[in-house]
Amino acid sequence: MLDKFEFKGKKDGLGLLVLAAVHGNETAGVNACHRVIQEFQSGRLKLTQGSLTLVPICNPEAYKKDVRCIDENLNRVIVPHPHPQTYEQGLANEICELIQSHRLTLDLHSTHCIGDVPFAFCDYPDEYNQKLISALDVDFVLEGWPEIYSQDTTIQDCSTEQYAHVCSNTATTLECGYHKEPKAIEISYRAILSTLAAFEMIDAPHPEAKKKTHIKLKSYVLKTKEGKLCKNYKHLDPIKKGEQIAIYDDGEVLVAPEDGFILLPNLNASINTEWYYLGE
Ligand SMILES: [Zn+2]
Repeated sequence: MLDKFEFKGKKDGLGLLVLAAVHGNETAGVNACHRVIQEFQSGRLKLTQGSLTLVPICNPEAYKKDVRCIDENLNRVIVPHPHPQTYEQGLANEICELIQSHRLTLDLHSTHCIGDVPFAFCDYPDEYNQKLISALDVDFVLEGWPEIYSQDTTIQDCSTEQYAHVCSNTATTLECGYHKEPKAIEISYRAILSTLAAFEMIDAPHPEAKKKTHIKLKSYVLKTKEGKLCKNYKHLDPIKKGEQIAIYDDGEVLVAPEDGFILLPNLNASINTEWYYLGE
């Protein structure tokens, strides 16, 4: 069983679920959750209405080993598995139940490179995640994730956001910046508090709505064989049409099909996983 921490307000209200370390090595959200839990337990924070559930470590074995996953990417198998075949499928069953029983889920992630810019995903916009995202202290919102995966039936986008959507609930994924940067913990921590404030679950002023840049995902590129990116790309680096982005060891070159941005480049991607994404 996953460790969960639950707090209830005096009045009924929104059920909020906060998840962290769905990818085991993304530890910023874990630290932020523990800080929030400690503040509720000490009485410094009080839940005025609704209920809050925090799961600081969604992939405990991967967290212990400081790796992304054990058998497979947990955020691609968030769907009920009657006969789980992998470690992550077993975890997904527990997480699905939680997502189903909470109206809103905030899923805290962090990214691979030093200096990465924090951003939110908004896959299925509705009034809940619009309100949540406008309260977050991030400049960028990425949209269109489900569409790029719907083009390829071999990859299923069984993410926390997708499963919440299936259950008529809402989830938002926040990428808090580079895993190991202390700033990422601060961003995760403030995201939890801003969400609680935006939905009037704690006594705090409404967070100020900040202007965001919306970026539409266009496609993703799988790394199909050994190779490397042509430079140390960072998330949201602009790219020009025709720019050489990656080169395989056999000489094949991948170029940018049009002007835009490179998103979520993974310099250490393993074969047959997402290497980078393109957006506009
Ligand atoms: Zn992640």
